Amino acid sequence: MKGYIHSFESFGTVDGPGIRFVVFMQGCPMRCKYCHNPDTWNFNGGKEYSPEEVVKEVLKYKSYIKKGGVTVSGGEPLVQFDFITELFRLLKDEGIHTALDTSGVTFNRSDDRYKRLIKYTDLVLLDIKHINEEKHKEITGHTNKNTLDFARFLSENGVDIWIRHVLVSNLTDNDDSLYELKVFIDGLKTVKKVEILPYHTMGEVKYVKLGFDYPLKGVQPPAIERIENARKILTVKDNT
Ligand code: SF4
Repeated sequence: MKGYIHSFESFGTVDGPGIRFVVFMQGCPMRCKYCHNPDTWNFNGGKEYSPEEVVKEVLKYKSYIKKGGVTVSGGEPLVQFDFITELFRLLKDEGIHTALDTSGVTFNRSDDRYKRLIKYTDLVLLDIKHINEEKHKEITGHTNKNTLDFARFLSENGVDIWIRHVLVSNLTDNDDSLYELKVFIDGLKTVKKVEILPYHTMGEVKYVKLGFDYPLKGVQPPAIERIENARKILTVKDNT
């Protein structure tokens, strides 16, 4: 079995608890306007690895990630479903904490393989791009139905969730939507944390390099007060 990987980060500190080895998978069906990794979109790119080869890379850093673990991010990792399931299975055999950073866009409740995946997944960092379906389509080109159902599925099956929400002025930073999102989150039983990720412009240079138009040209990062406001609205008791 092979997976297509964009890159590795050996000492990640922002994608889950502790110091983490982060695997960025290649390929994403979404086109989030604020995406800062457009170089991960192409399904034909990336370097081929077997799950065993990735574990071998991870084990070089085992002593550093003792209190952290491995996060698989992207791109959209769920597109390479069987690969990440096998990778997580092998990592659990090594006693390593596993986290999946996903938009949940490909989730399908009738696909039994999700039950197998969550058996080996300690934490899901679930990106909810927007609680309103139309707005979600405007931002990503896709419905949010699968994402929200994935959140319910994780909650029903006792899988820990950190919700992530990117805050972008005039796009996601709206009190009504934030309150609506909070109501949804409050209906889930396993949310341990909500992370507000303020939009930044560091990805713009990648669009230029790839010859893509930058969809958020001129949009500035949100003001500190707006970030605090979103944190206040969405805060859940931090029991990580
Ligand atoms: S889901 Fe992630 S990688 Fe894919 S377009 Fe959105 S932000 Fe980028």
